This record gives sequence, structure tokens and C-alpha cells, in this order.
Amino acid sequence: MPITPFHFGPGALFKAAAPQHVSWTAFALANGLIDLEPILLFFLTGEPAHRFFHTLPGATLAALAAVWPGRIACEAWLRFWNRQLSPAQARWLGCPAMITSKQALVGALLGAWSHLALDMAMHVDVRPLWPVIAANPWHGWMSVDGLHVLCVASGLVALAVWGVMKAARRR
Ligand SMILES: [Zn+2]
Repeated sequence: MPITPFHFGPGALFKAAAPQHVSWTAFALANGLIDLEPILLFFLTGEPAHRFFHTLPGATLAALAAVWPGRIACEAWLRFWNRQLSPAQARWLGCPAMITSKQALVGALLGAWSHLALDMAMHVDVRPLWPVIAANPWHGWMSVDGLHVLCVASGLVALAVWGVMKAARRR
């Protein structure tokens, strides 16, 4: 990983670019599920290794789990989130609690595949195209600093787009 939350920045950008087609919550859940692997391995073996769930088949499987049953958990989370907001906050931060299967699928697949694209630059043991290609020839395609800047900048751009869209809608 870049630490899992860094992945959420590009997700926010996808969401800002196509709000009707992408579930950011499913995007985030797919990323979280994939990174359970190195976290669990760290506690079990002391080494945060990247194995099956950091390959295209494994990450896609995690994305499908984020769609079902994950979509149900995502919708429950959004309902919980909306309940915490005051009416004034809800005008800015409230979000629809219904996620269509298509929004969940697009969000989760974008989440899983962008996760691999970012992680393969940082970690040599990520093998995106296993079992066809057993190695990681894309390690270092971008520097670690570059990855972090990319993730944070895409999150900030998404935030600006979201702010402008919300303000325009309120007028
Ligand atoms: Zn990862």
C-alpha cells in the first residue's frame, strides 16, 4: 500500500468526474478489503506481504465482494453517516444512501484496479498480472513521493470540484 486512505483520493476524483456512475463508498470498501491482506499477514507473520489479493484475479474478487454483500454494508454506512448530520451539515455533507448495483460495480472495480496500479509502483511483491506474468515489471513506474502527491492532489481536486458543484446546486 500507500497507506490505504491515500487510495481514496483517486476514488474521490473518479466520483467527482462521474458522480452518477461511481460509488465512492464501494471504491473505498474494495481498497479496504484488498489491504486487509498485508495487514493480516503483518500480524500473522510480521511481514506485510502482498499475495493473492494484490493480483488482478484477487483484487477483482475483492471488488465483487465489495459489490455483494458489500453494497448492503455501504448503504448501511451511508444511512448511519446521514443520521449523524445536523440539518445544516446535511445540506453540504448529506449523500444519497442508495447505491445501485452498477454504481457499486463501477466504483469497486475502479477501486481494485487503481489499487493495483498504485501498489505495483511501490511494492515489488505486488504481481498485478499473476498468473500470466509472475513478476512485477512495473515496480517503480512512479516514485513513492510521486504516488503520494498524485493521491493527495487528486483528492484535493475532487474536493474543489465537489465544492463548486454543491455551491452551484444551492444557487
Ligand atoms: Zn495494497
